[in-house]
Order: sequence, then C-alpha cells, then structure tokens
Amino acid sequence: MTAQIIDGRALARTVRREVEQRVVALAADGVVPGLAVVLAGDDPASQVYVRNKAKMAARVGIDARTIRLPAEVSAGDLLGVVERLNADDTVHGILVQLPLPAGISAAEASTILRAIDPAKDVDGLHPASLGQLVAGEAGFVACTPSGCMRMLRAHGVPLEGRRAVVIGRSTIVGKPMALLLLAANATVTVCHSRTVDLAARVREADVVIAAVGRPRLVRGDWVKPGAAVIDVGINRGDDGKLVGDVHFDEVSQVAGHLSPVPGGVGPMTIAYLLHNVSLAAARRLGGA
Ligand code: NAD
Repeated sequence: MTAQIIDGRALARTVRREVEQRVVALAADGVVPGLAVVLAGDDPASQVYVRNKAKMAARVGIDARTIRLPAEVSAGDLLGVVERLNADDTVHGILVQLPLPAGISAAEASTILRAIDPAKDVDGLHPASLGQLVAGEAGFVACTPSGCMRMLRAHGVPLEGRRAVVIGRSTIVGKPMALLLLAANATVTVCHSRTVDLAARVREADVVIAAVGRPRLVRGDWVKPGAAVIDVGINRGDDGKLVGDVHFDEVSQVAGHLSPVPGGVGPMTIAYLLHNVSLAAARRLGGA
C-alpha cells in the first residue's frame, strides 16, 4: 500500500483563510486581533519560529508584535512584560516563546506561563487551559495537537472506537494530543521513553502520533497496514535536512495516511496559533 500524504501546507492555507474571514468579521466591529510574542535570548531556532509566526500573522490581518529581550533578562522583568501585555487591550493573545534562557529556572518559567491571562493564552499552556481541556470545557487548546486533529478530520480518518497511540508525553504535544483523541472517542495509549516494547504498542494502533524528537524512530514494520500516521517530530538529519520521527520511506509503503516533515504538522501549528488569536479576539467581543 502507498500512503495518502497529508499535505499540511495546503490544509494550513485553508485554516488561514478561515482565520482571515474571522478577522474581516472582527474588523466590522472595529477590532484588530493582536498577538504579542515574547522572545527572550537568541536561540536560533526560536528566532526562526518567531519570525515565521509574525509573518503569517501579518498575512491574515493580525497585528503581531515581537518583544525581544536579552538572554540575561530576569524572571522578574519577564513577569513585568507579561503583566503589561495582560493589561493591554490591543493584545488578544500572548505567547512566551520557549525555551526561556538558561538563567530562568523551570520553576520561574512555570510562574511566567501561569502569569499569562488565560483569556490570552493562545498557546494553551496555562494550567487553566490544560484543566479546561481535561474537563472538556471550551478554552485554548495547544496549537500542534489542534493541527494534528484537523489533519485527521480533513482526511476522514475514523477515530471513534479506534486505537490511537501517542508517542511522547510532553505538556505541549503528547498530553493534549491524547486528551483530544480521547474526546473523539478513540481508545488512547500514551507511550514514552520508559515504554516497554514501543514497536508492539505502535503495531496495535489505527492512528499513530509521533512526538518524540528522535529522527526516523518509527519504522515501517512497526505500523499496522492502513494506519494513519502523523509525524510531529522536527529533527536535523546528519546532512542538515529536516527529518521527522517517522521513517518516511518505509512507513509510506505501509500506512494509509502519512504526514511528511517538512510540510506536515509544522505549518498547521502556526495556522492554529492564528486561529487561537482570532478566537481570543472574538471571545472578548462575545462572538465565539
Ligand atoms: P519533549 O522532549 O518535551 O518530549 C519528548 C517525549 O518523547 C517525552 O515525553 C519522552 O518520554 C518521549 N521519548 C523520548 N525518547 C523516546 C523513545 N526512545 N521512545 C518513546 N518515547 C520517547 O518534546 P516535544 O516538545 O513534545 O516535541 C517532540 C518533537 O516534536 C520534537 O522533535 C519537536 O521539535 C517536535 N515539535 C514539533 C512541532 C511542530 O509544530 N511540528 C511542535 C512542537 C514540537
């Protein structure tokens, strides 16, 4: 079997068009959705991500601004920036780009993320947003898992009663992904670095989400024929090229659907950030 490739770039264009329509509707009420991205330090990957987010936001009519801070910034100063953005009515979404500089401890980073007004938590990482997801209440859902769900929905991949395996248990991808699949009535297994016989768990799955950060970890003989496989991983290969967590050449011979890297989940993540910003603006207006 040759897998149907899930084109994340094309689907992200569709999501951005939906966002544009909402932005136009908001303009009629005099509202321009605003996104503030806080970038501390000079991590090269973060610089690229933040530039892309700002560029895509501008394209759909979102007013995006980047607040650049030096790597030596204190946790107190970062908190001050977040509090200022919370109080700024022109800002509907706040995103603190991770990772924070080495000088910020994990506990401080957590305090900074918690300081974001949950109504502006467009990354969906505030404990209030995560709690809403667990409780099945409307909040903000992390962008990458939202993008993965849209990819599955767009291709009509059945989830109800199906077995889904999520590889990775991070707060930003694995855990919210598992909750979304559960909400769609899949039977969900979450695998991680201590899972015994990962290949056997993956072989049982109708839907596989790989969010690990290990190049080409998921091999062709791990995958049930016809399964849908979403590759979240972004890794640099030895040749400097981007590769996912899935062995594309092998798995594309076995899977029913497969998302590529690049051109898969990455564009969808940014599209869902824009979606969340427009949603935040619409919610403040009372329209969503
Ligand atoms: P993370 O490092 O926080 O989590 C990785 C998870 O993988 C952990 O839960 C760990 O237990 C598990 N793991 C590690 N080694 C394993 C192994 N050998 N077998 C099974 N599980 C193992 O990473 P993250 O932030 O969740 O990101 C995961 C990957 O997804 C990374 O490559 C990251 O760059 C990528 N990512 C992509 C996007 C996107 O937009 N495409 C967004 C976020 C993350």
